Amino acid sequence: MSQPIDTARFTKVLVANRGEIACRVMRTARHMGLATVAVYSDADANARHVREADEAIRIGPAAARESYLNVAAVLDAAKRSGAGAVHPGYGFLSENAEFVEACAKAGIVFIGPPASAIAAMGDKSAAKARMANAGVPLVPGYHGDDQTDDLLKREADAIGYPVLLKASAGGGGKGMRVVEAPDQFQAALDGCRRESRAAFNDDRMLIEKYLTQPRHVEVQVFCDAHGNGVYLFERDCSVQRRHQKVLEEAPAPGMTAELRREMGEAAVRAAQEIGYVGAGTVEFLLDADGRFYFMEMNTRLQVEHPVTEMITGQDLVEWQLRVAMGEPLPLAQNELTLTGHSFEARLYAEDPEHDFLPATGTLERFDLDLLGAGLNADKVRLDSGVDSGDTVSMHYDPMLAKLIVHGDDRAQALATLNRALAALDVQGVVTNRGFLQRLASHPAFQAAELDTRFIEHHHDELFAAKQYRNDDYAAAALVALEQLGREQDSRAPREDASWHRSPWNRHDGFRLNAPHRIRVALCPPGEASDDETSDSIVTVDAQRDGVDAPWRLILGDTPLEGRLARLSGDAVAITLEGYRKRVQARLERTAQGHDIVMTDAQGETRLTWRRLDAVDHGHHEAESTLTAPMHGTVVALLVEPGTPVEKGMPLMVMEAMKMEHTLSAPADGHVESFHFAAGDTVGQGDVLLEFNVKQ
Ligand code: ADP
Repeated sequence: MSQPIDTARFTKVLVANRGEIACRVMRTARHMGLATVAVYSDADANARHVREADEAIRIGPAAARESYLNVAAVLDAAKRSGAGAVHPGYGFLSENAEFVEACAKAGIVFIGPPASAIAAMGDKSAAKARMANAGVPLVPGYHGDDQTDDLLKREADAIGYPVLLKASAGGGGKGMRVVEAPDQFQAALDGCRRESRAAFNDDRMLIEKYLTQPRHVEVQVFCDAHGNGVYLFERDCSVQRRHQKVLEEAPAPGMTAELRREMGEAAVRAAQEIGYVGAGTVEFLLDADGRFYFMEMNTRLQVEHPVTEMITGQDLVEWQLRVAMGEPLPLAQNELTLTGHSFEARLYAEDPEHDFLPATGTLERFDLDLLGAGLNADKVRLDSGVDSGDTVSMHYDPMLAKLIVHGDDRAQALATLNRALAALDVQGVVTNRGFLQRLASHPAFQAAELDTRFIEHHHDELFAAKQYRNDDYAAAALVALEQLGREQDSRAPREDASWHRSPWNRHDGFRLNAPHRIRVALCPPGEASDDETSDSIVTVDAQRDGVDAPWRLILGDTPLEGRLARLSGDAVAITLEGYRKRVQARLERTAQGHDIVMTDAQGETRLTWRRLDAVDHGHHEAESTLTAPMHGTVVALLVEPGTPVEKGMPLMVMEAMKMEHTLSAPADGHVESFHFAAGDTVGQGDVLLEFNVKQ
């Protein structure tokens, strides 16, 4: 059934996409010895995919419609660069038949299926008719041409309620409604038609039996231009919010070998029915009784393809490139094997607590500390479109990266996922990381009790406000004390009356003797207030007899003994009453002040803190020091020692995480001496300069 397509060897490939998928495709292309060309909008001029490409071409302003969705501009870029092939990634132009045809006309290989196969799956009703033809099971329902109200109602009654009304031309959940009972049918039909006309300029409807607890199980298929087709097993993508996948895994839990083969073969039949070539995904609903039904086919590479790569040991982008060059499929069905279990978690710049509102900002840090978390680099993969210092704009999909893990079995892979999520250091932009941790550690998810309404069913636990325990406050206090200790001798923060001051631009420190007694206040994020008596604030008194002695903490009335030992990177060991735990701990700047963030496989604990006690300096020394707020490089010294400066005047510039930070005069006075020169590397807490305050 395969149609002849233009195939040719090519040596340069243009990736018509951005973000993690563009980086991921280029990585494989590079390994295969191909030159890579990126395209970029004005918002992405310095984006990671541009930085990683051999060549990059501007295709227009930030708006996707004028850049990444602009067929003419992308095609021009391909011609200008001399790329022999275009990889569309997912989204944007990946399922645009017009673009595929335009590539063919220009003699450029489109790395994907022929336009006719994309068109065949574009209309849900027409696709269902063809799938029925190919013997692929469909959800009981109606997808005929007769669209009179009466007939649709009779069909719905015959199917039995609840039913699902879907727009034939639909996508993205638009024009789709559940109808619970016959008397609601007409109103729902009118609503769906209106929505569908508005979104797709088409109001044809289809009706399906509404399955109440289905799982979303999809099969990865691959076909070449020589008539071969295989399936690379299945993925379970049941955990969705608003029909958007959040956590995916392969294989699907509870599959029997027989069901896997049946679904796989049905998926290959579906692909071959429409003359498919390349990577595709056939989505099924799997009912609680083990029956499965065709839902739709995605005629492209999916976001979640890496879980399939993990369990099969294959590189699907390499397969795509080879097939596009006209080669046969690298492996036959009986050569494909399934090993272990894999999960993917999608990290979005969004706020789960506020209805998943997309977030923007500058990523101050974006790192995965594998070593610190004791993770094996072969088992954890981070597919990312961003780096520390990058800006997250509001122009595109808010997905930042995907964390993919592999384990010998589901439990092991899930434990690794939790560990890796904890080790991910993402600062500066709100993300769904904590939500992913709550999902991945939820008992029902651990027990693989999956269905497409998982998040809805477990909403209360997934969104419950975190309950803080004494141990959380004590651990956070130890992190705060360690931070203060690092500043000791060089600088210590004076009592800071405001929660709103950031440690980065605090420069009013005075030397003090070793702190014997310190008080810090901690409270859940967002509850910071200058009222010390507020119920949400816990104060911790800390004392110790020497640097090697344990801290004696008093939380309210509870005494506790604790220690903190730094391991590597952000990893620390916190011992409370002889109970030692390893966590990732770091300080994060927030709008409210600064937070202590501790993550372990159980999730994230975040507490806002400040030092409470007015330090008894004894005497305020006239000299103060400025310390490096973080590890970095000195960029420039801006004043001569001895020259009088006014409070707030810039004294020196340092760079860290690709951002410059200016250190300013803490008061009127002059710089006594600088301890570093431009170009020097400095560690966090290092004394940078001595400052003489004007008396
Ligand atoms: P769209 O193309 O608009 O995304 P789909 O047909 O792919 O719509 O369906 C999206 C989601 O809706 C599926 O992943 C599944 O969770 C749910 N769904 C679709 N059809 C049914 C059905 N017949 N019964 C129950 N849930 C369904």
